[in-house]
Amino acid sequence: MNPLPLATRRSFLGGLTAGAATLGWPARGTAGEPERPLGVALCGLGNYSRGQLAPALRLTRACALRGVITGNRDKGLAWAREFGFPERNVYAYATMARLVDNPDIDIVYVVTPNALHPEHVIAAAWAGKHVICEKPMANTAADCNAMLAACRAARVRLSIGYRLHFEPHHRELRRLAREGDFGPLRRLSGGLAFTINRRVWRVEKALAGGGPLMDIGIYCVQAACLAADADGAAHATFAPVAVRAREHPKRRADLFRDVEEGITWAMEFANGASGEFSTSYNGGEDRFRAEGERGWIEFAPAFSYGGIQIRTSAGAPRIGAAPESQQALQMDDFARCVREGRESPVPGEMGRRDLVILEAIYRSAAAGGARAEVKV
Ligand code: NAD
Repeated sequence: MNPLPLATRRSFLGGLTAGAATLGWPARGTAGEPERPLGVALCGLGNYSRGQLAPALRLTRACALRGVITGNRDKGLAWAREFGFPERNVYAYATMARLVDNPDIDIVYVVTPNALHPEHVIAAAWAGKHVICEKPMANTAADCNAMLAACRAARVRLSIGYRLHFEPHHRELRRLAREGDFGPLRRLSGGLAFTINRRVWRVEKALAGGGPLMDIGIYCVQAACLAADADGAAHATFAPVAVRAREHPKRRADLFRDVEEGITWAMEFANGASGEFSTSYNGGEDRFRAEGERGWIEFAPAFSYGGIQIRTSAGAPRIGAAPESQQALQMDDFARCVREGRESPVPGEMGRRDLVILEAIYRSAAAGGARAEVKV
């Protein structure tokens, strides 16, 4: 997708204000990075924004925190003081359309509960802003289609917050898939679980779309597709041909009223790779393993923000120092994609693919474990 020339962009946004003409395309610097890092506005100031993204945006070089979109104006004003951006860059969800007038903001990063991703991504796109959307991209693949269509129409780039694609141990998995040190990675397994004890949006189907599968099982789906994709290209639409799944019996049906408490599923790929995975909100697990004919690689912990460890049948591979922040790498990459006019390695299409897979997993579980085909 090529960025829209400014003239066309003006006419696309013709019904909007004249400020649309200055959509914040950055000035290019002469020594690598642009003179001005791209401006990011975080949409949703909950735990992930506070604990991970805002600190990461102090480390990024190609982008910086320049605004927020929040339901709580006082909180937004406090962020403006803390991070040194002007009060005019504090928006409410309902006033996102006004971002079109704000050349400080190039990228909106949507970090709200899953069900709200579509409206916030689409609002950002219609304001002419590039978008990063947190995982899962939406509650349904149909919603993903609408988000992709809006971003295409607005000629803005869309990427998903798949931070692990930029993490060195996960890059090593991709290298092994591509270079085949252990042969094609055919037997895959993994699990991710933590415990939820109270009623939060993550256990409400309307907001979360489902239970732990939507929230954290998606990491196993991501790693499985990465490992099974034999050319190591991490294609955005590479997917299993079918899945089978069984929901775990509920131990706390009062808490997990309309979402699964846990689920186990198998993935079957056309090239012969297969995997068994599980995820739960009632336990503690964080692992991934991929095995070929000549060796294996094991991750534990596999998916955390830091401290990822790997072992292989050939000993401990030499991996560079862990990054200070996976999220800083991820956001800098997206900012460079925007600046250089290239597609993100974790585009909206990949987010949609994962929703298609998750929907098939739920379909199989609802059918008592019957084989469900995946059609991306
Ligand atoms: P959170 O509950 O801590 O924050 C959610 C924010 O959305 C809050 O500021 C809340 O006020 C706001 N919000 C707006 N409308 C809301 C509504 N109707 N109901 C509830 N909250 C509403 O959640 P979080 O952990 O920051 O997760 C936010 C998103 O980020 C989710 O999509 C989640 O999957 C994703 N996430 C990704 C990672 C990762 O590693 N990539 C990690 C954590 C969360």
